[in-house]
Parts: sequence; C-alpha cells; structure tokens
Amino acid sequence: MCCDGTLFDFVAFAEGDARARLRVIREGRGFAQPCAAHDGACAIYETRPSACRAFVCELLDRHAREGASLDACLAIVRRARELLANRVRSDELDALMRHFDRA
Ligand code: SF4
Repeated sequence: MCCDGTLFDFVAFAEGDARARLRVIREGRGFAQPCAAHDGACAIYETRPSACRAFVCELLDRHAREGASLDACLAIVRRARELLANRVRSDELDALMRHFDRA
C-alpha cells in the first residue's frame, strides 16, 4: 500500500540517494508513485532511498511492538483502500491515513 501509489504520489530524495530504476520527477527532487521498483516487493531493497528506509507503518509497528491483532490492522488497511478507491474524503479516511505515515 505504501509503494503502490495508494497512499503517496511522490517521495522526496535525500542527498546521496540512488536513483536507478525510479521515475525521477519534480526536477530531480524525488520519484513518482506507484514506484517503478515495486514488483510485489521492493526490487531495489538494498539501495532504496532514505525516505523508504525511514518510513514506518504505524500499524505494522503496533502489531510487532504491542501485539496488536493482525486481523484488526488488515481491516484498517482494507477500509482505507475502500475509501481511497471511491475517492471519498472524510474524517474517517483522515483518521485512517494517520496509521500509515510515520516517516
Ligand atoms: S524504492 Fe522500494 S521501498 Fe521505496 S517506494 Fe519503491 S518499492 Fe517501495
């Protein structure tokens, strides 16, 4: 969900980030999502940009650290996808989106 363009349309580069295989946009300041290096998984994992390295999915983190129910976390992902697919902006979606952005 984080690399396929569902959540983001742009990721900024940091100095020194490799750019191979990425669709560089905005005068070289970052790359477009969906990510050209996403093929079910990150195809450039070892050299992925800094923002990708720093990104932590709050749901995954809560599951790993606190044992939050995986089913409950996945239900949030499904609901966010549903609202995004229908282009429904709402307080509910804004609240759900906060689960995915801890970079
Ligand atoms: S470089 Fe890898 S981790 Fe970063 S957005 Fe692309 S697929 Fe995802």
